[in-house]
Amino acid sequence: MRIAMFSTKPYDQRSFEERGSSHDIAWLEPRLSAETVSLAQGFEAVCLFVNDDARAEVIAALAAGGTRLIALRCAGFNNVDLAAAEAHGMAVVRVPAYSPHAVAEFTIGLLLALVRRIHKAYTRTRESNFALDGLLGFDLHGRTVGVIGTGRIGAIVARILQAGFGCRVLAYDIHHDAALEAIGVRYAPVEEIVAECDIISLHCPLTPQTHHLLNARSVARLRPGTIVVNTSRGALIDTEAAIEALKTGQLGGLAIDVYEQEADVFFEDLSAEIIQDDTLQRLMMFPNVLVTGHQAFFTREALAAIAEVTLGNIDDYAAGRPLANAVKPAAVKA
Ligand code: NAD
Repeated sequence: MRIAMFSTKPYDQRSFEERGSSHDIAWLEPRLSAETVSLAQGFEAVCLFVNDDARAEVIAALAAGGTRLIALRCAGFNNVDLAAAEAHGMAVVRVPAYSPHAVAEFTIGLLLALVRRIHKAYTRTRESNFALDGLLGFDLHGRTVGVIGTGRIGAIVARILQAGFGCRVLAYDIHHDAALEAIGVRYAPVEEIVAECDIISLHCPLTPQTHHLLNARSVARLRPGTIVVNTSRGALIDTEAAIEALKTGQLGGLAIDVYEQEADVFFEDLSAEIIQDDTLQRLMMFPNVLVTGHQAFFTREALAAIAEVTLGNIDDYAAGRPLANAVKPAAVKA
């Protein structure tokens, strides 16, 4: 098949070429959007990543250009209008799990860095400043942690925290995981998690139900000083509400690998540019905010698995086999 691969970085191309395939892949640097969709003209398949924008009008243009398959090389599918794809007879496939360990381990890394000020210590010691003032942290052991979304990633995070660090883990999910309950994780309503936890880590998908899960109202009910970690999707948090809560101390720290408006900035080197996003700039000014640029997935194992599963999905489609990793509109309501 002829595949237009949007948002391609050199590491994507390397991992796909290492896996190898019989498909004809065009490596395109731009993100898919209404402005760039003409690049897909004549390609039967497009391969998309997290910040490509496949809203209804883009899908209509893709269909008019002959595209029949959207192959997401990520797990989340909030950036694709699934109903529009279905209406145009277009199949959508994804990589449901490439390495949940990659994201879970990074989540713990972010949490530890934030509560023990490791990122600050790193820059200090490089300037021969070995003083400890301002680096005081707290033990994770014994703390109450809320894990929202206990699917592949959240379950690993919950296990590491409960069994590894000796935290008390409260969880919220629309489905309960009995294996987690067996190790002592307790499912509780979101309201209880918000009111009781010292730390909250977000691992549910972005859906209409979870959009701005943390907003001005829920943030006001947090324990003062709560730490929030988000490696899931930026729009789970109302960023403006988070900024207000950081100013008052209601939020004691925020570690994010994802950001609501990340599509305009993440994955690019903007170090010589003037960032136009005032909200992101404000966020990065707080001493107790740690931002990474959607990096949690980024391990050798995950890149290899993404290439393997994505090309496997495309092979299945090309051969007319059932699509094990198809995403249907009903999935949004999950
Ligand atoms: P998953 O599908 O295995 O788990 C998601 C869990 O969320 C499921 O258990 C589901 O029941 C639950 N859920 C769904 N709706 C909910 C709701 N309204 N309230 C509470 N829970 C709800 O997904 P996963 O592989 O664990 O990934 C979780 C999220 O992590 C993805 O949706 C994706 O957005 C994000 N992600 C981020 C990165 C990164 O690099 N930062 C990489 C991969 C995935």
